Amino acid sequence: MASEEYPGAEPFVPSPASLDACRLAVQACRGCDLFRDATQAVFGEGRDGARMVLVGEQPGDREDLAGHPFVGPAGRLLDDALEAAGVARDDVYLTNAVKHFRHEGTRGKQRIHKSPARWQVAACQPWLLTELDAVRPAVVVLLGATAGQAIYGPTFRVGATRGTAVPWPTDRLSLAEPPVCVPTVHPSAVIRSRTRDADFAALVADLDVAAGLAPR
Ligand code: SF4
Repeated sequence: MASEEYPGAEPFVPSPASLDACRLAVQACRGCDLFRDATQAVFGEGRDGARMVLVGEQPGDREDLAGHPFVGPAGRLLDDALEAAGVARDDVYLTNAVKHFRHEGTRGKQRIHKSPARWQVAACQPWLLTELDAVRPAVVVLLGATAGQAIYGPTFRVGATRGTAVPWPTDRLSLAEPPVCVPTVHPSAVIRSRTRDADFAALVADLDVAAGLAPR
């Protein structure tokens, strides 16, 4: 739902779009309304030329304050899952579908996460595609439905695609070197799960599939 007031991120993406240039430019993005209540934009981080990129939903309370992706509880669980799958965090690139924190209300001192709306995910998509074009991974791990919807559209569900290699939608999204995608759950879903051990093992298994598609 691009509008005159919120045109989407495209006009704010620099050219040439190096990761360093984007990391600076994203702080001035007014592509949707989420910048208003966030501390800062949180851009992706990780290895330049990483074979694997992992995409989450949006920064959380801790990430918003720190300015770095996956530094809160979900990030710690993801670290453990990557380690269990034999993947070094230093070897991957971590980012989110949406770069500003959407929240509503508080629990104690912590602001409560609220999932981004479809139009906000679509508005932020140019930053994600620019990151993928710069990093050029072999595989993109989609951590949860929002990450999948950023690539495959609003009807995407993890469901039956979980842990499988899904082709890049080249008919809709142009990338110089299209990766394959492996959908799985967001680590925060594992944290909330009543069957946490089994769900953690399933996340590790999905990361193992992705690692097999991204040989170093
Ligand atoms: S969420 Fe994305 S599109 Fe919206 S203001 Fe932030 S960087 Fe721009």
